[in-house]
Amino acid sequence: MSVADSKFYDLLGVASNASESEIKKAYRKLAIKYHPDKNPDPAAGEKFKEITVAYEVLSDKEKREIYDKFGEEGLKEGGAGGFGAGIFDFFGFGGGQRRRGPKKGETIQHALKVSLEDLYKGKVSKLSLKKSAKCPECDGKGAKSANAIKKCDDCGGQGAKTQLRQIGPGMVQQVRVPCQTCKGEGQVISEKDKCTKCKGNRSIPEEKVLKVNIDRGMRHMQKIVFQDEGDFESPDVIPGDVVVILQQKEHPVFTRDGDDLIMEQHITLLEALTGFTFYIKHLDDRVLTVTNPPSKVIKPNDIKCIHNEGMPKPKTMDKGRLIVKFIVDFPSDGQITPESAKLLEKVLPKPKPVTKPTSHDGIDEDVTLSDFDLNSRDKRGGGRGESYDDDDEDGHPQGVSCQQQ
Ligand SMILES: [Zn+2]
Ligand SMILES: [Zn+2]
Repeated sequence: MSVADSKFYDLLGVASNASESEIKKAYRKLAIKYHPDKNPDPAAGEKFKEITVAYEVLSDKEKREIYDKFGEEGLKEGGAGGFGAGIFDFFGFGGGQRRRGPKKGETIQHALKVSLEDLYKGKVSKLSLKKSAKCPECDGKGAKSANAIKKCDDCGGQGAKTQLRQIGPGMVQQVRVPCQTCKGEGQVISEKDKCTKCKGNRSIPEEKVLKVNIDRGMRHMQKIVFQDEGDFESPDVIPGDVVVILQQKEHPVFTRDGDDLIMEQHITLLEALTGFTFYIKHLDDRVLTVTNPPSKVIKPNDIKCIHNEGMPKPKTMDKGRLIVKFIVDFPSDGQITPESAKLLEKVLPKPKPVTKPTSHDGIDEDVTLSDFDLNSRDKRGGGRGESYDDDDEDGHPQGVSCQQQ
């Protein structure tokens, strides 16, 4: 498996395909080593924070998926993907935001449901977004005049205060907590000086319509970033990004595997033996006619493919494969009468002659074939309680080598 960024895996010292339990084990080992309770070295504290962030992401299926695809960039704070605060508070690391460069606001994530047809053909979608926009009256300052903005006395303009917090028996740690008086901003505006339009909020609600370009071949979970389209917070904070994450709706006929499309086609035993024609209504409304001649026998679960009829490959004119998995519907019990069996014998290849072995004890019994159910194991046997692994039964036919027809 290739991942966009292996930093978090490296921090925990695991491979990028490590299982959940391997990740957990690796984190535990490192956490014991670097936890500030055990290791007073400030460098260890930094290391502890790093491995904790890595663990928080890799232990969460959804975050790990985003990280694997987009790296750390994909996880930028805020929205549904926000992380970090919870566990840091617990260990007394809360507070102080240290970021380089101008402050950037929260990223807002939006899921956009799209059909497989949209991803095949491409589409421009409109997404209506409620956001906070800069107040035009006070130019985002929140006050009637610039000198009405005063430094917060409570925190001395820092926006945060130092507190002692008990983190264990007899253990106290200094933590920075946001100042309540100025809500962490370090400045206050007295009631009478607040802007009348935004009431000191600096922003006003706005409805914005974003044009989302869905390119041909885009994928489920793919992100489309609208830079700086997030909420306006204050003049010295760059608004965060709006990230639209495509969510592909299930399709009744096709499933997708990378650039390939996969479908199932039921045919009767007669069709499997004597050839058939069937039609595929494609995602762009074209009708494909598929014909198999009598000389080509289709066996149950045979997989064939049609080249260049899969999903468009981004930025090329190529397409993946359309993979067809054949389900052969056999006649049911009683449908083959003795008379029709005789007719079949005439045309189908003759079976090998059967010779009956001899039993030295002379034991010769007639037995009956019964229906067998995988889920109801015969408890009388020496079964150790393991169950059949049928994961692959209806999964994607991955790794299928596609023969040219
Ligand atoms: Zn304050
Ligand atoms: Zn205003």
